[in-house]
Amino acid sequence: MRRISVFGATGSIGENTLDLIGRRADYRVVALTGGRNVARLAELARSHRAEVAVTAYPACFSALKAALAGSGVDAAAGPEALVEAAGRPADWIMSAIVGAAGLAPGFAALAQGTTLALANKESLVAAGPVLMAEAARHGATILPVDSEHSAVFQALVGEDIAAVERVIITASGGPFRDWPAERLARATLAEAVAHPNWAMGQRISVDSASMFNKALELIETREFFGIAPGRIEVLVHPQSIVHALVGFSDGGLMAHLGPPDMRHAIGYALNWPARGALPVARLDLAALGSLTFEAPDPARFPALRLAREVMETGGLAGAAFNAAKEVALDHFIAGTIGFAAMAGVVEQTLDRLSSDPGLTIAPSSLDTVLAMDHLARVRAADAIADMSRKK
Ligand code: NDP
Repeated sequence: MRRISVFGATGSIGENTLDLIGRRADYRVVALTGGRNVARLAELARSHRAEVAVTAYPACFSALKAALAGSGVDAAAGPEALVEAAGRPADWIMSAIVGAAGLAPGFAALAQGTTLALANKESLVAAGPVLMAEAARHGATILPVDSEHSAVFQALVGEDIAAVERVIITASGGPFRDWPAERLARATLAEAVAHPNWAMGQRISVDSASMFNKALELIETREFFGIAPGRIEVLVHPQSIVHALVGFSDGGLMAHLGPPDMRHAIGYALNWPARGALPVARLDLAALGSLTFEAPDPARFPALRLAREVMETGGLAGAAFNAAKEVALDHFIAGTIGFAAMAGVVEQTLDRLSSDPGLTIAPSSLDTVLAMDHLARVRAADAIADMSRKK
């Protein structure tokens, strides 16, 4: 029996992961975690016969316990319970909590030397070097789940990383690919989450619309594969069929194609190092007819430029960038800032932190990352307060 835990089970990645897990009789579910969607968490824990279900919020504990009454599934709540659940012996753990909240459980999972399927890209952006060092220290394996990074990972099988000349990750361009800047500034939450190709959680959908998702993925590529920033390119590809391409020193490009269905990348990580059959649609290239590519527009989507500046700064700039982006996103979702203001908040936060000597210090532990995360959230809130005063 292969023991499986899913962190962020009630989310889009979590549900897709459990869809695949539920098809296998040789898997046993250890821990499932969620946030506020306690009813769904209990339902999943019951149907997958989990050992324990954990909500991140202590205030949700009694509702979870009540929903699990008589099921034989233990209930727990709070950040410490998440970390405890990540330490429960499991052979494969999905890290699909959204945001920096995924950091501590991810580190706890690595400490048991297991295989961590990493959807939570924020972990690599905020704490890449520490996370990779922690995995090496415990003999743990990290597998990419982001479709682009899974694609690069697959294109690199059997290849010498030294022969990699460039990596190209694709972006659909999101719902606002063709929108002029004036219209972008007035974009609503409903418009931002209406992704043309992918069905994803609310937060990553908005990040896709602003290209902050691709900005995080640029940094994720650098951290995961150790590719120099100058060798990583972003290409807009509205059909979301080619997920990434790897260019080698002989000029050849290896592309990974697949339908926009996250069960492909999740399933690859689940079956790795083998390949197993997956219930994803097969591409009909003749029916698709054409695949198109274009360069991203840096003026309308400043997130990519900011990510490159962050990579140049190094140190804890990734932690600051991610935290500032999360605060800006919270405010956009709450309706307190406009869509285009998000990039301004992130840029101002990084400016405010630029004189802080701590920004450029290489992260040495999860605690140093969390301290920068906290500081950046304070600075981002200050930047938003200043912006609204000047209005
Ligand atoms: P969702 O918003 O759909 O789900 C997020 C999950 O995290 C839910 O289970 C949610 O619980 C839980 N959660 C929310 N806040 C907290 C918290 N503070 N502490 C602990 N758990 C929390 O997100 P996605 O599934 O879309 O994305 C998950 C991760 O995967 C993100 O890092 C994203 O960038 C990455 N990713 C997602 C892709 C996608 O296609 N969706 C593609 C590639 C990467 P609840 O809902 O119960 O509140």
